[in-house]
Amino acid sequence: MHSYNRVTVDPRALRQNFRIIQQRAGAGVKILAMVKADGYGHGMIEAARVFASAGCRVFGVAETREAVRMREAGIEGEILIMLGISREHVDLVLRHDLSPLVCRIETVEQLSDAAARLGRKVGVHLKVDSGMSRFGLLPDQVDPFLDRMSTLPAVYIAGIVSHFSQADDPDSDNTRESYARYAAMCDRINGRSPGIRHIANSGGIFYFPATCGDMVRPGISLYGYYPDGKAGAGRARGDRLIPAMTFTSQVLQVKTVPAGTGVSYGHTYITPRQARLAIIPVGYEDGYFRSLSNRGEVLIRGCRAPIRGRVCMNICIADITDIQGVTAGDEVVLMGRQGRESITADEIADWVGTISYEVLCLIGNNNERIYINEDI
Ligand SMILES: *Cc1c(COP(=O)(O)O)cnc(C)c1O
Repeated sequence: MHSYNRVTVDPRALRQNFRIIQQRAGAGVKILAMVKADGYGHGMIEAARVFASAGCRVFGVAETREAVRMREAGIEGEILIMLGISREHVDLVLRHDLSPLVCRIETVEQLSDAAARLGRKVGVHLKVDSGMSRFGLLPDQVDPFLDRMSTLPAVYIAGIVSHFSQADDPDSDNTRESYARYAAMCDRINGRSPGIRHIANSGGIFYFPATCGDMVRPGISLYGYYPDGKAGAGRARGDRLIPAMTFTSQVLQVKTVPAGTGVSYGHTYITPRQARLAIIPVGYEDGYFRSLSNRGEVLIRGCRAPIRGRVCMNICIADITDIQGVTAGDEVVLMGRQGRESITADEIADWVGTISYEVLCLIGNNNERIYINEDI
């Protein structure tokens, strides 16, 4: 039984974006595909399979449970657990051959003990803080950490990780400074132990190519968006990223109301003239933000129709006075292309004051999702 609403993902767009990123980063650079947040709303497993088919061998998730789900679905290659692990996850890491980020020595000790008992060695990615002030070792904590780690027999450093706070801004000095701090920490660590270097997110890859290191970690760009939204899309030329997600619904009812009619909760919109309205079964429950009330637009019959009144939990109302021939059952595109018009996640993000990332996660993770053009 299908919903009126659906998210459609085009794997050809995902694959093309992967190829563009590989070209940008350089042929020898590994790509870790970020599939956290259920693949930014595109489906973690499905997206990982598509990236794997394009040659991807490394994946990133937030938590251990996602990594286990990936393995249970048959995803091979390396899976990094970006938020690290706690004691209860140690056995799962070993059983499923996962790669946690670490910055607490206790965790590394627990891993070493468990791996030693199995006669194995486990690789970890050392998380350092080069200016984001999220989790990670500060520069003065690196040497004491390595001193203690060198006494543990069954763990080794597979990678050295940091993260940029402003790489979505091509002019950010902060990114160059953060990279310099990171590179200095890497030099010290690599002086004692090998381990690949990876810091670049989408902003790093597109705006600071010198930071690509041994591996890059794209998220938003794999799904077709630039980290700085429309500005990035505007700068792009030949190898433009392609948004992979479309969000559609259908018209439930069409009605004509006289001038002076209040629309939806609170009557925040009063028709200034006789109006035709389309009732659409989409609301904030479906990730269609309430703050799109009297602000958003949708596509019907290839034309833009403004949202009137408040977006409800499961319903919103669009003004189709100027669009000819709309009837119940017509397709409504809330995000994506219809005819010559299109609405991007960046545009929706601008309407509500957020970023494409949040739009994709909320819409993608709250609707029936299908992949087109291929069996996944
Ligand atoms: C989410 C995330 C990324 C990907 O960032 P994008 O801006 O989506 O490319 C890379 N690295 C880390 C540590 C992350 O948390």
